[in-house]
Amino acid sequence: MKPLQCVKGMHDILPDEVALWHHLEEKFRALLAQYDYAEIRTPMLEPQALFLRAIGDATDIVEKEMYAFVDKGGDALALRPEGTASVVRAYLQHTLGATMPISRLYYIGPMFRRERPAKGRYRQFFQAGAELIGAAEPAADAEIIDMAVQYIRSLGLSNVRVQLNSLGDAQTRPLFRDALVAYFSQRTERLCADCRRRLETNPLRILDCKVPTCQAEAQGAPVILDYLNPDDAAHFAEVQRLLTLFGIPFDVVPTMVRGLDYYTQTIFEIQGSPDALGAQATIVGGGRYNDLIAQMGGRATPTIGFALGMERLLILVKDLVALSPPPLVFVAGAGEGGLDRAMLLSRTLRAAGLRVLVPFKEGSLRAQLKRANKSGATLAVIAGSEEAQRDAVTLRHLETGEQTEVPVAELVATIEAQQ
Ligand code: ATP
Ligand code: MG
Repeated sequence: MKPLQCVKGMHDILPDEVALWHHLEEKFRALLAQYDYAEIRTPMLEPQALFLRAIGDATDIVEKEMYAFVDKGGDALALRPEGTASVVRAYLQHTLGATMPISRLYYIGPMFRRERPAKGRYRQFFQAGAELIGAAEPAADAEIIDMAVQYIRSLGLSNVRVQLNSLGDAQTRPLFRDALVAYFSQRTERLCADCRRRLETNPLRILDCKVPTCQAEAQGAPVILDYLNPDDAAHFAEVQRLLTLFGIPFDVVPTMVRGLDYYTQTIFEIQGSPDALGAQATIVGGGRYNDLIAQMGGRATPTIGFALGMERLLILVKDLVALSPPPLVFVAGAGEGGLDRAMLLSRTLRAAGLRVLVPFKEGSLRAQLKRANKSGATLAVIAGSEEAQRDAVTLRHLETGEQTEVPVAELVATIEAQQ
């Protein structure tokens, strides 16, 4: 029988890759803790209605990409395609705002979208994201963008650029939408089939279409920044002033709209190198969603957040980060009672914090040392019966073959001194 494979577009993360994942995750946790963010973990399965309400049913994610199904009890469920909707649901469900008027939350976990797989585009992928709930000020926007940039820089990627735009408020959208519909209605024959449909359902998304003819038409389209009210324009100017103050390079990209319906005011993306990522160069997407919490039944609460694609980041940093695990010590037993001595000693060494392997069976010392060499250990401790009478062991450098007798009481210190 042919062994089964995992689902198309999904990936196993194998042991030789996992150290880099840990590194990325640990750096994220450590940095976000410095900004006083706390982790929140929400279920991967949610009611379908959550995403219909939060993301919008005319978005590509909900229309085409969501893994949605009815379970055996008849409940309409979906695998989460993104994190914000779930965080907001949890925020409202547990009235987090009551104890934390400004809630700073982050998450790391898998998301699911049934997209066409490509490099940097998968059907299960990991996002690390942050949500700053309850702050309306432009300084909050600047802080959250800064946090994303600092994180990426902390991994050794210095060349990141931020792209910014503002979508204004709930009044801006319909004005701009009408202007877009008027503009694109004159050009339907040059739009792809999807965009012709979007013209009816969600014309802003035409600006985000990846088809070259649609992109060419989008170049001359009305610009949303011309439709902002004075407060939103001032807010956007202040965000830019602060980023300049921080020395973070950015471009204002008036055609950027982002894929989710809930955004208001500032939206942003951070791009990595297109050489490494091809068409999937966006590593971070984020923005404000001041109306989302009210839309989901809460009190109007200004919020901003971002989500970062971990696989795309990993592609960019994998050659920059050198990780070496702590040295491995192999404990071999020799002579009468050798296995017992080796196992007891391995427990002592692990209790002292060392990384230790022990063979599970008695065997010749030669065979054990052969195994030690194959294991990747740098040192072997030989618990022989003769040295045991003097409460000592033999410490052997596996690469050079050099060995010395060490009293058991001095073993941990001796090993640590050599690492
Ligand atoms: P894209 O334009 O690349 O499809 P998006 O606008 O759909 O991105 P968001 O929903 O804002 O992306 O998600 C934020 C980040 O999550 C993206 O910038 C990307 O790094 C990552 N991401 C999104 N979809 C995928 C995917 N299918 N596979 C891997 N990473 C993804
Ligand atoms: Mg997408």
